[in-house]
Amino acid sequence: MQCPSCNQPANTFFRFAFTREGVTISEGLKGYLRCQHCGTLLRIARFRKQVWYFVAALAIAFFIFHEIVLKPLFQAKVGVRTTMVCWIGSVLVWVSFYIFGLWKYRVVEKVEEESKSAEKATA
Ligand SMILES: [Zn+2]
Repeated sequence: MQCPSCNQPANTFFRFAFTREGVTISEGLKGYLRCQHCGTLLRIARFRKQVWYFVAALAIAFFIFHEIVLKPLFQAKVGVRTTMVCWIGSVLVWVSFYIFGLWKYRVVEKVEEESKSAEKATA
């Protein structure tokens, strides 16, 4: 994800996943973030079309994994705890992939700080 203002990567995946990206929580929920290089306020404009292929591929991969690995594992009666750990582990892995896809394929646009504060005043 490039920053439209300075043409540097606007943030890292780590920063995306574990920080508020330089904005307040409510701004973050509205899709705002700040560029890690130049501090420009950005907004997620849309996701690239590839995100749908990514999500579809992920769903198929999960299904195959479930059929090949999880189902035989559960049928082998490995015990409730092992089953739970495997389930939670695999769900966590897939959720991470999903979040990674959202990060990778989002497209940001520059937000004029004035227009945003004007928007806030009218809201
Ligand atoms: Zn920037």
